[in-house]
Amino acid sequence: MSLNKHIKNSRGLIDNGLVDDGILQTIEKVTEKFSVSISQGIHNNPAPEVLEQYVPSVEELSISAEELADPIGDDVYTPIKGITHRYPDRVLLKAVHVCEVYCRFCFRREKVGRGKEILSQSELDIAIQYIEQNEQIFEVILSGGDPLVLHPAKLKEIVERLSKIEHVAVIRIHTRLPMASPEKVTEKLIDALETEKAVFVVLHCNSHEEVTVEVKAALKRFFKMGIPLLSQSVLLKGINDCE
Ligand code: SF4
Repeated sequence: MSLNKHIKNSRGLIDNGLVDDGILQTIEKVTEKFSVSISQGIHNNPAPEVLEQYVPSVEELSISAEELADPIGDDVYTPIKGITHRYPDRVLLKAVHVCEVYCRFCFRREKVGRGKEILSQSELDIAIQYIEQNEQIFEVILSGGDPLVLHPAKLKEIVERLSKIEHVAVIRIHTRLPMASPEKVTEKLIDALETEKAVFVVLHCNSHEEVTVEVKAALKRFFKMGIPLLSQSVLLKGINDCE
């Protein structure tokens, strides 16, 4: 099935045959709690293991007593809003808490989604000041959320401000955008990453089926700018647990 729209709610899931009409009310409870977003590129991908990563399930409402809202323990390493400082020489700068698509297995799912949005200008100023004041910080990891959903002008502002900090040598960007919506990897977006610092883009890719012709073309745009691409993958039952 091919789709012309980005799915962002339970009605869209039902209209596109991804969820049975009979469970509309239950699935609405899931999507109220955890955002849903399935891009056109993902929905048009014929490989079931690609789409499956994004279709919500009623099982998401079953939360056991042992489960934590902050399973990787970010909170204790959050000195100020938007910064996670777990290791001395690197920080996460979470300027945005929305994503292009919402992966059902996300360990930050309580913290990302509609309504979480982006840091205000003053919150961003304070976060960057924190990086300026902590001279042991060698690497800044833009994460979130997906930093590449920021407007290119905002992304450029952040990259330029980080580039002025002498002790910051590396800017790393973690993103799912090129795999989900390769058409959004525009020249403007790539230009926003131009800096004399070392820039690495870390893709989140869980299946070779995600690397379509369109995705390859988007990735080439990063290469042309001389930006090395790395990948991180989550091991998922039924998605990438076989040859
Ligand atoms: S793109 Fe990353 S932060 Fe966003 S839902 Fe997926 S895993 Fe979580």
